[in-house]
Amino acid sequence: MLNLTEKHALIQKIAEKLAKEKVAPRAKEIDSTGAFPWDLVDLYKKQGFLYLMLPEKFGGLDGDITSLCVVTEELAKVSGASSLIPLAHHVGVMPIMIAGNEEQKDYLYSKIAAPDNLCVVAFALTEPEAGSDASHMRTYATKDGDYYYLNGKKAMITNGANAQIYSVFAATDSKKRTAGISAFYVEKDYPGVIIGKSEDKMGMIGSDITELIFDNVRLTKDNLLGKEGQGWDIAMSTLNLSRPAVGAQAVGLAQGALDYAVDYAWKRVQFGQKLADFEGIQFMVADMATKVEAARALVYDAAHLLDMKVYERDKMSAIGVDKLSAMAKVYSADVAMSVTTDAVQILGGYGYTKEYPVERMMRDAKATQIYEGTNQVQRIVIARDVFRHLHA
Ligand SMILES: Cc1cc2nc3c(=O)[nH]c(=O)nc-3n(C[C@H](O)[C@H](O)[C@H](O)COP(=O)(O)OP(=O)(O)OC[C@H]3O[C@@H](n4cnc5c(N)ncnc54)[C@H](O)[C@@H]3O)c2cc1C
Repeated sequence: MLNLTEKHALIQKIAEKLAKEKVAPRAKEIDSTGAFPWDLVDLYKKQGFLYLMLPEKFGGLDGDITSLCVVTEELAKVSGASSLIPLAHHVGVMPIMIAGNEEQKDYLYSKIAAPDNLCVVAFALTEPEAGSDASHMRTYATKDGDYYYLNGKKAMITNGANAQIYSVFAATDSKKRTAGISAFYVEKDYPGVIIGKSEDKMGMIGSDITELIFDNVRLTKDNLLGKEGQGWDIAMSTLNLSRPAVGAQAVGLAQGALDYAVDYAWKRVQFGQKLADFEGIQFMVADMATKVEAARALVYDAAHLLDMKVYERDKMSAIGVDKLSAMAKVYSADVAMSVTTDAVQILGGYGYTKEYPVERMMRDAKATQIYEGTNQVQRIVIARDVFRHLHA
């Protein structure tokens, strides 16, 4: 059980109601058709869920990570894909929040918060040849006079086909490796921005992952977020901020599957008794519930530390928020995978059919072990931090 503040408890109630009343009835259909649920995005916007990260003057909560976690968890309990769309949107907003200047923030936040515009944002780091090793990117922003010319291809970008704004990372000086990467905001309607193929994926169906191709897209210094060469730090700071929310998504998926399996075990009778009366099932359920609570505690602990604004890079390593953020993500994602798999097991053959939601939850859970840095990469981050502190 969580000790949420009054503000966060209220947000949770609103998100829970929306998830149960509006998202849950659509979850199966979204998964089977794969159609991007614009109607839900519209509802999220009306509830303020698309501008949680924005400053108060735009109706937001000024980068509050706990509120993002609470909303994401509630949506993920009923539909992974429907939770991923606003989550990926916020990951796209974070580079602007971290590094944008006042003019850029005013311009972009006005677009995101405008009542008559359904503006979704995407975070574009991954490339076909640069996934875990993202710093080996081949997207270049070549400077020529007052302009940068952006060329290259990004891959598997969530919201890629539907976003109006992209936070894009590109090399401005490839000799400098990570110190030669810069961050830009790019708008969909710029000449040379091409939406490439969308992937046909295992889960999270209804949210898109898409290629983005940049064919000599002309940018000005007004598109540069932060300074030239700060892109890598901006990307890593973004991921430190967003990983607890991916953890919250994983917790939501696991809780949704656990709740369904518990209810099923209570009603299903075999050998003349409820499944819930078999010790083998009870022990599974006990382990599942324990893992979910442990994952939730890690997620909200990391979120709380981030909300104390300790995420500036110098302070971050001092108290290990990057490690905690990675732990929250890696543990919750592994819990989501194991709990959703066990939920399928508890439903037996029916769990393996599309009639019941647990197989969808299991497919959705797999993604949380892969994006925002794979779970192997998270373990590298954690181990590096553990050993660094040993020798500090
Ligand atoms: C549903 C979905 C949504 C996504 N959304 C976005 C998005 O919005 N924006 C974005 O930029 N990207 C996005 N991605 C891309 C995602 O971040 C990458 O898939 C991920 O970083 C892994 O890169 P890769 O797929 O190239 O795998 P690779 O890097 O090729 O890795 C393959 C395997 O090798 C392992 N591996 C790699 N290096 C090491 C190592 N040093 N030690 C041990 N094991 C290692 C990996 O853990 C993995 O198991 C998304 C992906 C998915 C599936």
